[in-house]
Amino acid sequence: MNAADDCKFFVPGPTWVRPEILREMTRAMIGHRSAEFKELFKTIVADLKPLFATTQDTFVATCSGTGLMQASLANCVPRRVLVTTCGAFSERWASIAESLGLEVDRLDTAWGTATEPEALTDHLRSRRTQYDAVTLTHNETSTGVTNDVAALARVIREESPETLVLVDAVSSLAGIPLRFDEWDLDVCFASVQKGIALPPGITVFALSKRALAKTEKTPYRGTYFDFMQYKKHAGTDGVPSTPSIPHFYALAAQLHNILRKETLEARFRRHEEMRALTIRKTATYAKLASDPAHASATVTALAPVKDPEVIRSEMKKRGYTLGGGYGDWKTMTFRIGHMGDIPIESLDKMLDVLTEVARA
Ligand code: PLP
Repeated sequence: MNAADDCKFFVPGPTWVRPEILREMTRAMIGHRSAEFKELFKTIVADLKPLFATTQDTFVATCSGTGLMQASLANCVPRRVLVTTCGAFSERWASIAESLGLEVDRLDTAWGTATEPEALTDHLRSRRTQYDAVTLTHNETSTGVTNDVAALARVIREESPETLVLVDAVSSLAGIPLRFDEWDLDVCFASVQKGIALPPGITVFALSKRALAKTEKTPYRGTYFDFMQYKKHAGTDGVPSTPSIPHFYALAAQLHNILRKETLEARFRRHEEMRALTIRKTATYAKLASDPAHASATVTALAPVKDPEVIRSEMKKRGYTLGGGYGDWKTMTFRIGHMGDIPIESLDKMLDVLTEVARA
C-alpha cells in the first residue's frame, strides 16, 4: 500500500502507525523471563540511548506517559516541586503532584507562549525554597509550543544545583531534538504513540545517576513504578513485571527504522518541514494560535475563521481525522498532529483538502 494514500490520521497522538509496524505486534508470544526477551530488551535499551542522546540508563514501562509523570514525582520528590506550566499537559504535573500530597509551587505562563528562562531564574532567585525537582514540558501538545528545555535546565543547574530536572518529552521525543546528557536532565520520558509512532501502551524513559541516587533515599515510592526495581531488573532479566510484549516487538522494529533507516537527523528535518508546510498552507484561513517563535515541529494549534468543529466534521466526511482543541482552547482551535511517521506527501494532500473545507 502506498503510505501517502493510507495516512489520513492527523491527531496529535495517538498518531498514524505504519501497517508493517502494526504487524510486528501480532508475532508469537515469548515469556518475559526468557532468553529471547532478554535479547529483545537489551537491543531496545541500547537503541533508546541514541534516541535520548544519553549514555545513562534507559528503560521501558508498560503504561502511558501519565504513568511516568506520577512515577517521576513519586520516586524523585520527597517534598517540594516547582511545576512550570504553559498549557494543559504541563498543568497535569501540578494535579498529579497535589494528588501525591507534595508541596507544589507553580510558575505559570500564558497558554500559547513558552516558559521563559528569565522568568524561571527570577522565580528561583526570589524563593528561598530548595525544590527537590522542577518539572518541564518539552512540547506542550495542547497549544503546539516547544519550550527551550536546554536553556531552562541550564537555569536550574545554575540557580539550584541539587534540584532535579524532570522532563515530559511525550510529544517531542523522536520528532524534536532532545539531548539528555548534554542538557544535564534527570528524568525524561515519552509514551510511544507520538513521535515514535507506535500504538499507545508503553513509555520509554531515561534516568540520570543523580535521579537514581535521589530515588534510593525517597521513602514510600510505591511498587509498580519503583525506579530502583527498574534498575535492578534491567541489570538482570529486563523489567519488574509482565510487560506488553507485542509493544516491545514493535518498538525494537521502530527504533531500528528511526535510527538506521530514516536516521534521527532526517527525521528531525522532516518534522521541521511538516511544521513549515502546515503553517504556510493554513495561513489564509487560520491564525497560528501560539507564539510563532516557539511553534512546535510535531503539532500545530490553529484558530480558524470558521468554526473549528465544523471544519473537523467536514474533514471527517472526507476520511480525514484532525485533533480537536484542548482544554481552555477547545472551542476556539483545532490541532493538526504532524508527528511520527507521517509522510510529507500525506500531510500536503490533507492540507489541500483542508484549504477547500476551511474556505468554503
Ligand atoms: N504530556 C504531554 C505533553 C502529552 O501530550 C500527553 C498526551 O497527549 C501526556 C503528557 C499524557 O500522556 P499519555 O496520554 O500517554 O498518558
